[in-house]
Amino acid sequence: FMLGAFLLSSIGARLFGAMGRLRIQEASLARVDALLRLPDLPLLEGVAADGDSIRFEKVGFSYGRDFVLENIDLEIEAGQKIALVGPSGAGKSTLARLLLRFFDPDTGRVTLGGRDIRSFSQPVLAERFAAMFQDNFLFSQTIRANIAIGRPGASDAEIAEAARLSRADDFIRALPAGYDTVLHRGEGLSGGQKQRIAIARAFLKNAPILVLDEAAAYLDPDGQYEIQAALNALATGRTVIAIAHRLSSVRHFDRIVYLEGGRITECGSHDALIALDGAYARQWRSHAAARSFTLRNAGTV
Ligand code: ADP
Ligand code: MG
Repeated sequence: FMLGAFLLSSIGARLFGAMGRLRIQEASLARVDALLRLPDLPLLEGVAADGDSIRFEKVGFSYGRDFVLENIDLEIEAGQKIALVGPSGAGKSTLARLLLRFFDPDTGRVTLGGRDIRSFSQPVLAERFAAMFQDNFLFSQTIRANIAIGRPGASDAEIAEAARLSRADDFIRALPAGYDTVLHRGEGLSGGQKQRIAIARAFLKNAPILVLDEAAAYLDPDGQYEIQAALNALATGRTVIAIAHRLSSVRHFDRIVYLEGGRITECGSHDALIALDGAYARQWRSHAAARSFTLRNAGTV
């Protein structure tokens, strides 16, 4: 198992960037074992024949006890922007993890371009996705190396361009050692700066599908505008599946999927869900109230 874990973590680190680590932390031994075995389905190389459309078909999943996702049907066209919202524990992160194959569904299936994601080889699947999480998984290496995880072998110019696009270039170059600054688990950087390094990594990877788990939830008011601008730039022209607490950041998404207790209970545009006047509308109203309270207290309203 040690060798397996090592292989998995080194392969994972190369293919999915930091996701390998999350796998090790989150997967039970049985799950790790399942990941090390070859999938039952034949390996198919090459990109999805009919694009990057994603479908969850009657997906159910349990971490071992109760089902935390049940009967999930969701179709995401290539280029669409979908927000997953709902209370804590609803299953939003789990849904994202199934898409990234941290785990596989217990029932139903997830398809990419009409093909079960279990039928892709890991490198081919990994290259379709860039993922960003609440913890940005900075390694104790240089900033340059941390960004280059997005595309091993990238040139310094490409790394700097990715940092420029993610609005990280300025603060990186202002550091005494610039891109050669060694990060000790990200110490000395603000949450927003760490996040912009993660965004630079995703720019460099240039994958067509972006999975963001609460990436915009950082309570770093200084960097909030910069982060949102960098994320908007990154999202352009890509499929986005975003889990966000700040509803204002996903208001203009193509579709908002409201999850509760492992099921999709509401689904539609912001306007449609406001008109529906259900759980999303309630969350939006309390969100708007909290926001205006903050602004009033900050003296800006
Ligand atoms: P959300 O992202 O909407 O807050 P999650 O997908 O993280 O919800 O969690 C859904 C349910 O699964 C919760 O009941 C949570 O406690 C449980 N859960 C999440 N991750 C794990 C895990 N690694 N092992 C066991 N249970 C988990
Ligand atoms: Mg979550």
